[in-house]
Amino acid sequence: MKRILVTGGAGFVGSHLCERLLKEGNEVICLDNFFTGSKKNIVHLMDNPYFELVRHDVTHPYFAEVDEIYNLACPASPVHYQHNPIKTIKTSVLGAVNMLGLAKRIGAKILQASTSEVYGDPKVHPQTEDYWGHVNPIGIRSCYDEGKRCAETLFMDYHISNNVAIKIIRIFNTYGPNMNPNDGRVVSNFIMQALRGEDITIFGDGLQTRSFQYVDDLVEGMIRMMNSKPDFLGPVNLGNPNEFTMLELAESIIKLTGSSSKLKFMPLPQDDPKQRQPDISLAKAQLNGWQPNIQLEAGLVKTIAYFKMHL
Ligand code: NAD
Ligand code: UDP
Repeated sequence: MKRILVTGGAGFVGSHLCERLLKEGNEVICLDNFFTGSKKNIVHLMDNPYFELVRHDVTHPYFAEVDEIYNLACPASPVHYQHNPIKTIKTSVLGAVNMLGLAKRIGAKILQASTSEVYGDPKVHPQTEDYWGHVNPIGIRSCYDEGKRCAETLFMDYHISNNVAIKIIRIFNTYGPNMNPNDGRVVSNFIMQALRGEDITIFGDGLQTRSFQYVDDLVEGMIRMMNSKPDFLGPVNLGNPNEFTMLELAESIIKLTGSSSKLKFMPLPQDDPKQRQPDISLAKAQLNGWQPNIQLEAGLVKTIAYFKMHL
């Protein structure tokens, strides 16, 4: 049995990760300040004596004796990370410093949940890990993108200077149950709009692309990465390479919900990436043939069922 700290554990991805780690027989400390996460996501784990919930903000130091740390604390939806951009960058940067300091002190292995946003509005397609990205350092997405880029730098430097055992994953757009319905991300927006019979809000012409990964596939990849060979540090892309336009996503959701919603075109936010698709060759090679198993329609069906229950 390992003792594992999950920061951001009450969020969408973190709650699935906590559940899976407990199922595998580990002890889990879930740390969260509940900015975008919710007790609802983890309430079913509260009776488990091996699960502990800590209200804490990662911008302040935290101490616990653990074997592994998954560092997920950070709002992920543009609406939420832009709400207080200074807090967002502090969460990524000070959160990384505090968790790396903890890992160094107690000799724990630590995994950073980085993002495809480090590639910005990419000029290389699909994105490989050796692409350095195309990021605006002073735009409305910068607090998130640059915060995550700086966190990657900190992880590498703590490894090089202090021999901390690190792992870096770059997560591409992920969806599934436990997403906050008011989170503002495209999958939750479209599903909620379709279920309520409201207009589906397409930003721009809807021809921009994203590649959507179901959360279970991501969690499998995260755990494989944590347990990968000690000399494999990443960064490694974790995402589903099947790429869709936002118009295609809207069509699928309208079909699967049987909704009568109509499309409503709205202005494209500043610096919105035009395309995004992971090259997952490295993950396949290093993580025992890892690849996503749940394709968009199957994943949307499960997600729609979750949102219906919570309407
Ligand atoms: P989420 O917003 O649902 O979860 C983030 C969690 O972190 C929430 O529970 C929130 O309350 C917590 N948090 C935020 N600031 C904190 C702070 N200062 N101290 C402690 N807790 C704090 O988002 P998610 O989709 O679950 O994302 C989890 C991680 O994965 C994030 O680091 C995100 O950047 C990364 N990621 C997610 C996606 C995706 O598509 N879901 C894509 C790329 C990267
Ligand atoms: N988007 C949209 N309508 C919405 C919400 C988002 O058309 O109601 C678009 C958004 O402009 C972007 C894509 O969907 O091009 C994905 O947006 P999201 O916020 O989910 O993630 P990110 O831009 O960070 O990949």
